[in-house]
Amino acid sequence: MVQHVKLARERRRRKSRIKAVIFFFGLLCIITGGILTLKNTAENESLATVDPSIENQYQALTLTEKNNDPNSHLDATSYDDELLPEDDEVDQVDLSDKLPEEAQSIIDELLDAIGQAKRITDQFSYTVVRGDKLSDVLEMSGLEDETSKKLIASYPELKNLKAGQQFYWILNNENELEYLNWLVSEKEERIYELNDTGKFARQILEKKSIWQRDVLKGKIEGSLYTSLRNLGLNNRQINQLSTALQWQVNVARLSKGDNFAVLVTREYLDNKLTGQGNVDAIHIMTGGKSYYAIQADNGRYYNRQGETIGKGFARIPLQRQARISSPFNPSRRHPVTGRVRPHKGVDFAVPVGTPVILPADGIIEKVAYQAGGAGRYIVVRHSREYQTIYMHLSKSLVKAGQSVKRGERIALTGNTGISTGAHLHYEFHINGRAVNPMTVKLPGTNSGMADKERKNFLVKAKSAERLLKF
Ligand SMILES: [Zn+2]
Repeated sequence: MVQHVKLARERRRRKSRIKAVIFFFGLLCIITGGILTLKNTAENESLATVDPSIENQYQALTLTEKNNDPNSHLDATSYDDELLPEDDEVDQVDLSDKLPEEAQSIIDELLDAIGQAKRITDQFSYTVVRGDKLSDVLEMSGLEDETSKKLIASYPELKNLKAGQQFYWILNNENELEYLNWLVSEKEERIYELNDTGKFARQILEKKSIWQRDVLKGKIEGSLYTSLRNLGLNNRQINQLSTALQWQVNVARLSKGDNFAVLVTREYLDNKLTGQGNVDAIHIMTGGKSYYAIQADNGRYYNRQGETIGKGFARIPLQRQARISSPFNPSRRHPVTGRVRPHKGVDFAVPVGTPVILPADGIIEKVAYQAGGAGRYIVVRHSREYQTIYMHLSKSLVKAGQSVKRGERIALTGNTGISTGAHLHYEFHINGRAVNPMTVKLPGTNSGMADKERKNFLVKAKSAERLLKF
């Protein structure tokens, strides 16, 4: 922003410089002219002394001039004589008249230059703070409200100032606003200049930025977060990528030295990053395996196959796949009683203390303990239709009513209630009815990518893959 003020000043200074150059050139011409004139007179004088006839004429003229007294007015010859001295006088007047004229123009020019110098002392700059109006800005230089009213009447955009914008302006000799530079943004400035008709003319200067695709490569140092941060990615972009990768790879467990490559489209202004940009794709290689998150035209990230990884439901509420010790089975019979005891969920064999990861955004509906059955359990509502239930937990990390995002830890698994070993019992309900969590068509899984969109994505994914090779 400060740079803009500098630019505006420079532009202004350049204009003054051009004026100064023209002025000095003019001055030079006048001086040269003056010297030549003086030289001519000098030459004439020397000629007069050298040529006796001219000298005589001159003497004759002086003589007739002497005759030109009020008493000789009636003399007929004095009429001609009168004319001659008069002519002589005119010649002299001509000469003396020329000099003041030139002197006058020099004085004018000098006044102009002084005015120009004064103008430099009449320049102001100001950075808008919240709530400022144009009149508040111009008041800094003692300008009345009339000026801002006049400007706004012609250019209503000046009604809406934003904090951080800068103004640079100049007053003329009459203390009127002559030049106003408004730095609307890094990319745009508007100039209002008082013209001869007393109106303000506007000029809009726009800087064109360039969007460029860059591949940024690195190795994990510390966390993925700090590594991406070091490459210049912002928090929002890092979060997007982490979320996108979370379901494929344990982001927290990436180790030092793991390779990653990011495809970004970034905006440059004057060869400098503006901070605007988009992450198109990321490739992470850990444990000899490649993981991708690639953005589709809809803005969401998918894996290479176009499967959703950033939205909707994760298949399992765990960080990694786990062995299923007991599948979903609505007609399961109890091994001892032989009665039908439907298994309304799926059991994952996981050690006590394994984090339970919420598979989709939701609100904790219930956190409870049931000694004769589910043990410590949590019910989560994801929308009007969906609920998920987690049983036999050792510890809940959330409270009822809490709103939780997909990917957050809500509990640690355990072996509470009626349970024959450490495991997580996971249920998926649609409109209150338990369905098989492992086969249910998960909401948002294909994220509404139509066939054509999906085809486009696969082409994009191939290209991203090529660019992000290690
Ligand atoms: Zn179970």
